[in-house]
Amino acid sequence: MTGQKTEGQPSSPAASASCRFCGAALSESFVDLGSSPLCQKHVPLHKAQEAEPFFPLHAYVCTECYLVQLDEFVVPSEIFGDGEYAYFASFSDSWLAHAKRYVDAVSERFGLGKDSFVVEIASNDGYLLQNFVKRGVPVLGIEPASNCAAAAREKGVESRVCFFGLETARQLVNEGKRPDLLLGNNVLAHVPDVNDFVAGMQLLLADSGVITMEFPHLVRLIAENQFDTIYHEHFSYFSFTTVRRIFARHGIRLFDVEELPTHGGSLRIYGCHQTARHQNTDNVAGLLAREAELGVETREYYASFAEKVRETKRRLLEFLIQVKRQGKSVVGYGAPGKGNTLLNYCGIRRDFIDYTVDRSPHKQNNLLPGSRIPIYAPEKIFETKPDYILLLPWNLREEIMSQMSRVREWGGKFVVPIPSVKVFE
Ligand SMILES: [Zn+2]
Repeated sequence: MTGQKTEGQPSSPAASASCRFCGAALSESFVDLGSSPLCQKHVPLHKAQEAEPFFPLHAYVCTECYLVQLDEFVVPSEIFGDGEYAYFASFSDSWLAHAKRYVDAVSERFGLGKDSFVVEIASNDGYLLQNFVKRGVPVLGIEPASNCAAAAREKGVESRVCFFGLETARQLVNEGKRPDLLLGNNVLAHVPDVNDFVAGMQLLLADSGVITMEFPHLVRLIAENQFDTIYHEHFSYFSFTTVRRIFARHGIRLFDVEELPTHGGSLRIYGCHQTARHQNTDNVAGLLAREAELGVETREYYASFAEKVRETKRRLLEFLIQVKRQGKSVVGYGAPGKGNTLLNYCGIRRDFIDYTVDRSPHKQNNLLPGSRIPIYAPEKIFETKPDYILLLPWNLREEIMSQMSRVREWGGKFVVPIPSVKVFE
C-alpha cells in the first residue's frame, strides 16, 4: 500500500510508489482519471443504499523502463476478496472462437498431444482449456476465483484456486508439473508484482517449453484513445519493447510476437528459455523497430495522451446532452470493466443512461459500481425500444450489432464512445 501523498497539487499529485518493474521513482503522470470504485464490484440491489469505496485511478509512466502503470492502491485480495468474480469468459461468442483458433494453431505449431502438458494461468471458467481437453491434451488451470474454477471443473478442466507467482510455481515444480505450454491471456496486466509472476513462469516452464501470453498493446491504447481500458484491476500497460525487457531480465527470450485485433488491439508473445532452440522470427525485430520509430522510449510519446482523454470526455458529454435535449432515450449495452471507467470518469449516470444490459446472468439485476446504472438482460432493450444504445464493450461492436440487429425495426441506433463518439445508423 502507499504512503503519504503530496498535498496541495491536485492537478498532478506526486506518486508515492516506485516502478513495479525497475524500482525507479514514479513521477511522470500518464493520465489521471479521478477516482472510481473497483470495476468488477457490481452493487447488488439490496446494497443500493450502502456506500462503496472509491480509489484513485491515476496512471504513471516510468521514465526509466517506460512501463505504464497504476500506483499501488489496491491489493488483489480486495478485488477478489470474496473469491467471486463476475467475469465469465464463456459469455462472449467471439472470445470463445478466438480461444479455439488459438488452441488449434498452437497445437499444430508446437506438436502438442496426449504426452504434452498445458498450464493456463487465469484459466477463468475453462473457456480455453476445454479445447485441449477435447484433443486429449492433459491440462491444469490456475484460477483465483473459486466460482470460475468450479465452472471450469464442470467442463472437465482440472483447476486450482490460487494466484500465480514464484510460490505456486515452486509447488508445481515439486509435484513434477512442468508444462510444455504455459499460457496466460489478459492476466499479465492484472499482476501487481510482475517480477514475481514472470520469475515464476520461468521456473515452471519445461526446458523446451513455450510461453504464450496475450495482453492489450499500449501502442494501440495510445493511438486509439482507449483510456477506458485503464482500471484498478489493470496494474500495467505494456509496449513490446518494455515487456521484452521484463521477460529477458527473468531469463525468458521472446522469439515471436503477433498483433491481434482482440480487446482493441493485443499482442500475443511467444517466449522460451534463453538457450532453447526456437529461432527469433522477423516479427520481433519488426515490431521493436516500429515502436522505436513511434518513440515508446521517449517522454514525448506519452505527454499528449491526457489532453486527448479530456477532449473525448467533452465530446461524449456533448453528444449525450444534445440527444437528451431532443427528448431521446439512451441505454447501454454491456457491463465490462472498461464501461465503468468511462461512465465514472465522464460522470454519466442515470441522468443520461436509463439502464444497461448484459448477457451474463452473474451481472444482471445488479447496479454498475459508482454510476449505479442498473443491469438487465438484453431482452429489456426490445421492451423499451430506446433511440440510442451506447456500446460499452466497443471492441465487440460487430458481434453485438449483429446479435441486436432487431433494434433497427424501430430506428434504434448504436453509439460507440471510443476512439471518439460515432453513431451507427
Ligand atoms: Zn520502471
